[in-house]
Amino acid sequence: MIDVKDLSKNLDEILNYEPSDEPVISLYLGVDAARITKQEYTTVLNSIMTSKKAEIETSSVYQPSQKKSIYEMMDAIKLYINDYFRPESAKTLLIFAKEGKIFSIVRIPFNLKSKIIIDPKPHTQILRAILSSITKYGILVIDREKAQIILMSMGEIKQFLDAFISDVPPKVNYRSQLALREKNILSRFEEKLHHFFKIINEKTLIHLREGKFDNIILAGRKEIVSQFSNYIHSFIAQKYIGSIAAEVDDLPHIIRDRAKELIDRHELGLKNKLVGQLIDNYCPQELGVLGVQATINALMLEQVRTLIYNNEFSAPGYVCSECGFISLSPDSSCPYCSSTLTFYNDITDEIVETAIKQGCEIVDAQTNERLAENGNIGAILRFRIEAV
Ligand SMILES: [Zn+2]
Repeated sequence: MIDVKDLSKNLDEILNYEPSDEPVISLYLGVDAARITKQEYTTVLNSIMTSKKAEIETSSVYQPSQKKSIYEMMDAIKLYINDYFRPESAKTLLIFAKEGKIFSIVRIPFNLKSKIIIDPKPHTQILRAILSSITKYGILVIDREKAQIILMSMGEIKQFLDAFISDVPPKVNYRSQLALREKNILSRFEEKLHHFFKIINEKTLIHLREGKFDNIILAGRKEIVSQFSNYIHSFIAQKYIGSIAAEVDDLPHIIRDRAKELIDRHELGLKNKLVGQLIDNYCPQELGVLGVQATINALMLEQVRTLIYNNEFSAPGYVCSECGFISLSPDSSCPYCSSTLTFYNDITDEIVETAIKQGCEIVDAQTNERLAENGNIGAILRFRIEAV
């Protein structure tokens, strides 16, 4: 049985991997429930594995022991996807395997090309770009006696960052007149709570300043959250996106699901605002484009800063297998490298992946109506191109 939570901890190991003789599998599989059924993505998986296997069989690159390890990894991946995997909010599943076993699973919230890569090290180009652009949320779950900070990103709990227990006797500086007055006013119980909340506030501020998370959510009983709100530092307040009802001892998936609802609402608000800015501000200034042709043109000129697309977006097109040139029109060969262009029923994944490789921010605007009226895809540009 595979413990997914433990596997996501291996990301550092993947990003700092030392190449060895052991082949590593990196598998990308499109699993977006809005686009593909389980039966369809398992068929895709089987077909990419079968063609890779045929390639390996005839290759002289691998020793028999390496081939055996690769086939074991392929079987382990198939077993996991068939028997354990549920897509939930993931759009692309990224699996890393080595030494015959799966060693990390990453759920990616973008549509990427399905493919299998076998190399002496994990394929991390896309992962690095995604990790650097993903917003990390700190969930501060708070009670009178206990509190903890949970890190969440890409819809999943990544880590328990810190925990606090209120059993430290308060160190009040009685030399301060103010502290003395405070002590007299507050009951012993309130004083302890006051001290506890101050410590949590300070520690949270340190984590935030160190960049451990970008935004913060408060979780707890309503009266405790509102009481704690009086303590939060103005810098934390700027990063605060809302609160959820929770108990410190709630199971992680309960907290995750409630936080996810709040995060989705928050992010949707930001995305809708961005679409509005693209249409109303950037496009009139020639710093934005709308529609698939204009977006591809800008992408091919490496002009895109932020790629914005709706879930409904799809377009048939042509892709150069050599240099990655994307075109809507059936030209006989690539204008850049003269290789043959291949027809794709849908070039969305190619567009998104090209943008990620160029370091663009990717915004899945979901089902924004204004964007739908303007071609379902567009981009904010890094710079203007002077008319020739
Ligand atoms: Zn080309």
